[in-house]
Amino acid sequence: MLKYYNYDVVFQEIPNEVTLAVNITNCPNRCKGCHSPHLLEDIGKVLDQTCVINMINKYASSITCFCFMGGDAAPHRVNDLASFIQNTYPDLKVAWYSGFTKLPKNFNTSCFNFIKLGGYIQKYGALESDSSNQHFYEIQSDGFMKDVSYKFKAKNI
Ligand code: SF4
Repeated sequence: MLKYYNYDVVFQEIPNEVTLAVNITNCPNRCKGCHSPHLLEDIGKVLDQTCVINMINKYASSITCFCFMGGDAAPHRVNDLASFIQNTYPDLKVAWYSGFTKLPKNFNTSCFNFIKLGGYIQKYGALESDSSNQHFYEIQSDGFMKDVSYKFKAKNI
């Protein structure tokens, strides 16, 4: 089961997209210097298909992307909901921000347009840092994960 703490429309997380980002709780990662420690707790409301429909319909055509921020405790549930969004809203892009270094086994990337991998390591910094361990990928139609992390670096913004 996935639960979420809150959601908001954001502009930085996915380049060139207006993104409805949902902050998922019960994060199993324990990144030192975590920017959102409340997301480590098993709190919030259940994120299911009905909830997703209500969120997306609230913003209707003003968003171009839906992003799962977290969900590493139940990645295959993220996968299922991503597939549901892709099938229900074919014009909407779908993204996942994960703290995993690698994708989980049997994870279906074809229902995503974007995936961010990598936990937060203070000394390396987040995506915008040149030394970041995190990577941001665009999923190509043939399944290739194209690393476009450069789009976040300060010199390219
Ligand atoms: S993945 Fe994000 S929310 Fe989870 S511990 Fe790391 S920084 Fe915090």
